[in-house]
Order: sequence, then structure tokens, then C-alpha cells
Amino acid sequence: MDEIIIKQKLLDNFLKYISIPSQSNESNRKIPSSKGQLTLAKILYDDLYSLGIEDVSLNDYGVVQAHIPSNIDTKDKYPSIGWVCHLDTVDVGLSEVVNPRIVKNYDGGDIILNKEKDIKISPIEDENILAYVGDDIVVTDGNSVLGADNKAAIANVMTAVSYIVENPNLKHGDIYLAFVPDEEIGLRGVRKIEFSKFNVDFAYTIDCCKLGELVYETFNAASGKLKITGVSAHPMNSKSNLVNPIMVAHDFIAMLDRSKMPENTEGREGYIWVTDIHSNVLDLSLNFNIRDHDRDNFEKSKKYLMNIVEYLRKKYEKAKIEIEIEDVYRNICDCIDDENVLAIEKLKEAYTCLGIEPEIIPMRGGTDGSYLSTRNILTPNYFTGALNFHSNKEYLPMNSFYKSFLVTLELMIIKDRCYE
Ligand SMILES: [Zn+2]
Repeated sequence: MDEIIIKQKLLDNFLKYISIPSQSNESNRKIPSSKGQLTLAKILYDDLYSLGIEDVSLNDYGVVQAHIPSNIDTKDKYPSIGWVCHLDTVDVGLSEVVNPRIVKNYDGGDIILNKEKDIKISPIEDENILAYVGDDIVVTDGNSVLGADNKAAIANVMTAVSYIVENPNLKHGDIYLAFVPDEEIGLRGVRKIEFSKFNVDFAYTIDCCKLGELVYETFNAASGKLKITGVSAHPMNSKSNLVNPIMVAHDFIAMLDRSKMPENTEGREGYIWVTDIHSNVLDLSLNFNIRDHDRDNFEKSKKYLMNIVEYLRKKYEKAKIEIEIEDVYRNICDCIDDENVLAIEKLKEAYTCLGIEPEIIPMRGGTDGSYLSTRNILTPNYFTGALNFHSNKEYLPMNSFYKSFLVTLELMIIKDRCYE
């Protein structure tokens, strides 16, 4: 394999996909939540079709799906594998237009992203960058995220598929692809995959950061809403009559354990996060998130909040207090079984073949795989190679990007030894 040609192809694909603005929009309940995602979906549909892949579809939700049929006789001997990438980039208040730049042969100094605004990546603040001295690094102009989350994955998978199509001598099993919108706003798009056309034994996402990262543990996640209707009264007869919903909410928050909040937790420690409150003298609504890797602790946190509400209903008999808690996704590793564990084993094997040291991390978040695991599709997650996701200092070192691509190829191609 010609490394230079592949790297150029990866880069070309990546630059093409990040040139299409596709931030998701949390406040739009439609899927996809933004037009740009649909534009990107259509381009991917066309790109797959022009590769000669006949089984390609694009549904009303902007989900692109494709199936590359196995080219071996003993189909049942090789698992059917899916890849899921998300079309959206995150909206963190930065520009949706990406102006990338390639820093050739990084010299270990400051990388000036934007001279005017004095935005730079400096090894003094971010020593991780020193691992990439000598590499070519794709960066932003400081005004946007780079969008390697998750367009590095899209470019990776598209390059791997075109490689397989161009080399029909390479043997592979059934490969399924799904490009989904609106991951960044609560894993909304992945739910719109047409699962009858996604006939996989397991799947992968390529949605974490630096070379070697490997994730098959995510949070269990729930989101909740507390609604309080108090009793309003004129101050001339407010005594013993007025029930201020803000004070009820205050009691609710005061009963939460400060040591179990995001600002005080790390690793596998779960939390409850009160994310916003809206109120007037009569009505209040409060939103919160519950996260925990451990299923029992996760359920205990839910129960604890229900108990608080029971207590408050007794304390404030005249108030109407309602709580709703909805599961959003679950920990990927809760769906591991004797058969699908192969997904993790194959990934580790691919790393070994490529001489990549796996860094297994319990992710303090969720991936599309966290939803897929609720449908019993085990979906581990591996690195894109990019760092500083969700930031204008996001960057993508080409060697790591190339290694990420090689992992994909190792997983796709059937061989009795490491593929080179
Ligand atoms: Zn992502």
C-alpha cells in the first residue's frame, strides 16, 4: 500500500467533508436538525454510488446507509460488521464555516491559528502537541472547530471502502455503513437507522481522540425534568398561602450530593447535573442529567430523586410537583455477550497488528454506540487521531489519522495474518 497516496486521499476526503457546514441545532426538534447535514448526506450518497456500491439509501431523516456485500463463499464464517459515523459537528458558539490549514512538518513551536485574535496552540499550554513533531497537522483558523469529530471518521470509512472496491482481490465479509445526523444533540439521528437494512453482528464508531484510544464503556444516561407549580398570592395575604416554586426547587437542589456533581467527579464516578432552571412566581421547570457507568448506581440515583420529590410533596402540600426521568442511552459494555465480544477482540487484534498500544478509557459521555447497545448491537469506539474535540484548537495529525484508517482496513479485510 502506498502510504503517501492513501494519506493524500484521506486528506482530500476530509477537506471535502469539512467544507460543508453541518452543525446540529439543539433547538430544532426535526431530524436532521440542520440543512447542512442533509447536504453532506446527499454528497455521501453520491460518493458511495459513484464507487459502484449499488445498495445505498438516504432516508427522510438524512440517514445514509450502504451495504457492501461479502465477496467470500463462507459468509457465515466471517461476521457482518457495521460502521456508524455522525454527520453533524457540534455547535459551541463558534463559526460553522471551517477554514483549515495544514502545518507541514510541525517544528515543536507555537502554532498560530489566528494572529489577529491571538489564538494559538502552544506546547506550553498543551504539551500533547509535542508528540506530533515532524508530522503534518490539520488545524483551524481559530474561528471554528475543525470537525474531525466526526468527519475524520467519515473520511476514514469512505477511503477504506474505496480501497476495498478498487482492490477486489481483497476478501471481506458483509460491510454495512450508516451515516447519521444529530449525534451531538443527544444521539437523535442514530435512532433513525433502518435496522432491517443494518444486518450486523456488531458495529464500530470512530469517535474518540488520540492514537490508541479504545472505548467500550460509556455512561448510562438519563435526562429529567422537574415541574413545580406553586401558589401565588398578594403580599397582603401571602402568609401561609404563598408557595414559591423557586424555594421548592431550592430544597430539591440542596438535597443533592455536592460530591456527586460533574465538577467534583472523574473516571467512573457518576453524577447528577442540574442544567437549567426557568421560573416565574407560579411555575418552575428544572432540567437535569443523570450519568453513571454503573447500572445499579444509575438506578439508585433515579430512585433518590424520586424520593426527594415524595418528601417535597409532603412538605409543600399545596404545590404541584412532577418529575419525569427518561433513559437516553446505556453503557456499551452492558450488552457484551460471549459472541459479540468478538468486536472488542478484533479491535485489539488490529491494534496489535499495527503496533498500536491500546489505551482503554471509560468514556465520560456517550457515543452512537451507547444507543446501539440498547438494541443489542455492541459498538466499540476507536480513535480518529484528532485532539481537542469541540474546541477551536481541535487538530488532526496526519500520521494518527492514517493509523486510524489502517485499523478500519484491518477490521474490514479477512486475512490470516496482519494486513500491510
Ligand atoms: Zn463525535
